[in-house]
Amino acid sequence: MTMRDTIDVGIDLGTTNSAVAVARGASAEVVRNSRGLEFTPSAVYLSGSGSVRVGQAARDRVVADPGNACAEFKLRMGRLDQDKLFEDSGRSMSPEEMSAEVLKAMRADVARRTGDQIETAVITVPAAFTADQTAATSRAAELAGLRAALLLQEPAAAVWAYTADATDLPDRGFSLVYDFGGGTFDAAVVKIEDGEFLVVNHAGDNSLGGKRIDWALVEDHLLPRLRQVSDLGDVTLDDPRYRGVLAQLKELAEGAKVELSQQESVEVEAEITITTGRAVELSCVLTQADLDAVARPLVASSVRLCRQSLAESGLGPESFDRVLLVGGSSQLALVRQMLADPVDGLGIPLDHSLDPMTVVARGAAVYAATRRIPSEVRKSMLVAAGQTHLYLEYEPAGLDPDPLVGGRARADSVQDWSGWTVELRNTTAAPVWSTGSLPLRPDGTFAVRIRAEEFTTHTVTVVLHDPAGSPVETDTTGLTSPTSARAAGWVALRP
Ligand code: ADP
Ligand code: MG
Repeated sequence: MTMRDTIDVGIDLGTTNSAVAVARGASAEVVRNSRGLEFTPSAVYLSGSGSVRVGQAARDRVVADPGNACAEFKLRMGRLDQDKLFEDSGRSMSPEEMSAEVLKAMRADVARRTGDQIETAVITVPAAFTADQTAATSRAAELAGLRAALLLQEPAAAVWAYTADATDLPDRGFSLVYDFGGGTFDAAVVKIEDGEFLVVNHAGDNSLGGKRIDWALVEDHLLPRLRQVSDLGDVTLDDPRYRGVLAQLKELAEGAKVELSQQESVEVEAEITITTGRAVELSCVLTQADLDAVARPLVASSVRLCRQSLAESGLGPESFDRVLLVGGSSQLALVRQMLADPVDGLGIPLDHSLDPMTVVARGAAVYAATRRIPSEVRKSMLVAAGQTHLYLEYEPAGLDPDPLVGGRARADSVQDWSGWTVELRNTTAAPVWSTGSLPLRPDGTFAVRIRAEEFTTHTVTVVLHDPAGSPVETDTTGLTSPTSARAAGWVALRP
């Protein structure tokens, strides 16, 4: 196990999908799940024997087998009497317990990728979450075996990702985060000031999401077509006899919707199983115009909520640097069209350069790299045999351009560090700047000021040498400043 001084792991515990990312240098890398995908449906299925499945396999059963599968439990977090009875197993689970299963799956994905059993993480929550809902999220983290979880608001996480990665967001000003997910829509005004991101206003609708578009496509297009080609002339959207059929149609509608973000029209062709051994061929063409027609009222509502948030915060469009597009449904062509419309749009430039499905998890990981693991957790983390751990002490989110960096080496085989040295080198400065060889104190500690200039990214490498002068491999390669020393502070680098 490698030792970590900073939390480094960010989890987007989403209503529809969840994702996890780990800090890498100044940026973050999304961890893929066992299916090779960067996000995992937030759904839980319990079999008759009580075994738990999380992700796509569970999500596939939500419409067809609602007695044994559950999704969108995040919206019920922190409320009383929200337990879900899983019929076949007879077991009930609270929304917190179901969220914990999703978090466990995220932990397992990190363990598969990095070999680390993580004990701490940053977990994102909607800006609209109440104290009860955030407390429930903390409980879910505890149930999932995390010893400490730091919560971060989703819109702030999005800004962290954009600051680290993409474009040159200015040091101060406002960004509007437009987050259109699977079940919900949220708009948030985020104030950017000296490397801090503060949600100053938000507006949202917990029933406005991509799912509504899928069901509208079923109702207006797929179901009428099915009635024509089958003997199900009377089937309706809420007919419990045909849950399995409706689940298939919903899946087809969602697939077609996603394809329509790449092309003008799609041909939906599928064999729909009515009952075991009885199936019909369904085929119909869906066009961009069909999609726009069902999506337009929903997107219009989202734009209204943005305007509301702008008005409530007393800010005009000119105060905003950009609109950051977040959430899977922000990929609809109509969203970009309507937001950019010269008359009905917002009058703020759009930025969708980062993948909207994973941007929140990535931002959470970037933030996590600036937060130290609580000392009570850190102390109990052991140095594995044969490994040398170099712990760097620095101000993770400071504004000091010449920060003081302290450190300590630890290894189970070394008691006295006399004769050992470290060297810190700023390889991004011109000319390259070095501390030279710094002797370690007998207890393995050292301290030195490193130099940086403002508004540039700096990478400082750290190398440990044994008394013979040979370099020794450690679990830390150095520090980096994400965008500028002033804006976002220093982040530990991992090998
Ligand atoms: P949440 O924040 O609720 O967990 P996500 O951000 O994961 O949700 O978004 C999921 C939604 O995005 C789903 O409704 C899905 O159908 C939709 N979606 C994914 N890709 C696209 C696309 N290319 N075009 C339109 N909608 C999409
Ligand atoms: Mg989301």
